[in-house]
Amino acid sequence: MPYNGFMHPRRVTRKVVVGDDRVGRVAIGGDAPLSVQTMCAGYTHDIDACVAEINRYAKAGADLVRLAVPERKDTEALHHILPQVRVPIVADVHFHYQRALEAIEAGVHKIRLNPGNISDRDQVNQVIDACAERKLPIRVGVNEGSIIERKDKLKRMEELGKYFAGHHSGHLIALMIAKLEEYLEIFEARNFHEVIISAKGIDPTLVIDIYTEISARFDYPLHLGVTHAGTVDSGRIRSISALSTLVANGIGDTLRISYASDHIHEVQDGIEMLCCLGKRVRKGVELIACPTCGRIQVDLFTLVKEVEKILMPELELPIKVAVMGCIVNGPGEAEGADVAVFAGDRRGIIYVQGQRVANVPEAEILPRLLAECKEFEARVRRGEAKLGEKVVAIVPPAPIGELGSGEARIMAGLVEKVTVGGR
Ligand code: SF4
Repeated sequence: MPYNGFMHPRRVTRKVVVGDDRVGRVAIGGDAPLSVQTMCAGYTHDIDACVAEINRYAKAGADLVRLAVPERKDTEALHHILPQVRVPIVADVHFHYQRALEAIEAGVHKIRLNPGNISDRDQVNQVIDACAERKLPIRVGVNEGSIIERKDKLKRMEELGKYFAGHHSGHLIALMIAKLEEYLEIFEARNFHEVIISAKGIDPTLVIDIYTEISARFDYPLHLGVTHAGTVDSGRIRSISALSTLVANGIGDTLRISYASDHIHEVQDGIEMLCCLGKRVRKGVELIACPTCGRIQVDLFTLVKEVEKILMPELELPIKVAVMGCIVNGPGEAEGADVAVFAGDRRGIIYVQGQRVANVPEAEILPRLLAECKEFEARVRRGEAKLGEKVVAIVPPAPIGELGSGEARIMAGLVEKVTVGGR
C-alpha cells in the first residue's frame, strides 16, 4: 500500500456558489478550495465604517464577509453597502425572518438562519422561496448556545441520546442533530438544496465530534467554527485544534475562526491554518524562525518581531525567509528557505538560495535582510530566479571563523548571554 500521509481525502459534498459577476463567485463544497470567512464587528447601519471594515477583511484575504442585520436600519444600510464592496456578503439573521427577506431584496449573496430562533415553518418557507428565486444559498447554523430547551428536544433524544450516551456532551450532539434534521426537512420538502450547514460549540472536542457526525449524515457542505473561543491569544489554540483536526480528516468546506479581538486575526489565522495544512497556496512571506536557546548571541526575538512587522508586509511573493539563531542547527533548518540569516556573536550571515551574500553586524541584519529579500523578489519577477529553488547547498561558516559563533566559545563558557525581552 502506498503511504498516503496523515491527511484524509476530502469528504465529497454538494457544491453551492455564493456571489455574482460583480463581487466574484466563491464555490463552497465539492472540489472547491476551502474558503475563509469572517464577520464584521461593527454596526451594519454605520455604513461608512461597515464598508471600511468589509474592505479591510477582503484585502486581508477573506473570501466572504458576514454582517449582522438585527434591525430594519441594518437591512436598509445594505442597499448602500453592497455597491461599495467586492466580496460576497452574508446576512446573519436571528429571530426576525423579515430581516432575511429585506436582505435578499437588498441584494445580499447568502443568508444564514439559526434554527434555534427562527423555526416557524411558514416563515422559513418564505425565506427559502425568496432565496430560490434569486439562486442564493442559505446556511443553516445551529449553535450549542441557542439549541437548549427547544420544542424538538424529545423528538429523537431517545434514539440519539442512547447513541451518544458515552460522550461527555452527548445530549448536546443529539439535540443539535435532531434540530438540524428537523430543519432540513423543511428545505428538502421545498426541493431546496443550496444549503450549507454548521453546528458550532465552545468545546473543541464537541466541535470535532459533532462535525464528524453530521458529515456522515448529510452531504451538504460544512461551515466549520468554534464559537466564543476567546481572544486571539486565548482562543487561537481552542479554535485551530478543532478546525485543523477536522480539515485533516477531510471534513469542512468553509470556515470562520471567531475571536473577541480584531477580526482581521480571524482571516489571517484561517488562511495560515489552510496554508499549513497544504489546503491553500501561500500568498505572502513564509517565516521560519528558531525558538532560540542558550546558544543565542543576538537579540533574536526582537529581530524576528521586526521581520514580521517590517519585512513581511514589504513583500508580496511567497518567499520563504528563515531567521536562525546560530550555526548549530541554523544551516540545516534554513536549507529549504529562499532567504536565510543565521546569527553568531552579534553578527549575522545572510544566504539567498544557499549562496552567502552578506556578513553584517547585528544592527544591520534587518535592513540587509530586507534589501536581499526585495532584490530576490525582483529577480523572481524578472524570471531570473525561482521560488523554492536551491541554487547551492548552504555551507556553514567554520565554527571559529569570521562569524565568531564558534562552539568552542560556547563549550568554554565564554558566551555572554543576551538578555532578550526580559528573559
Ligand atoms: S538555531 Fe541555534 S540558537 Fe536557535 S534554537 Fe537551534 S541551536 Fe538554539
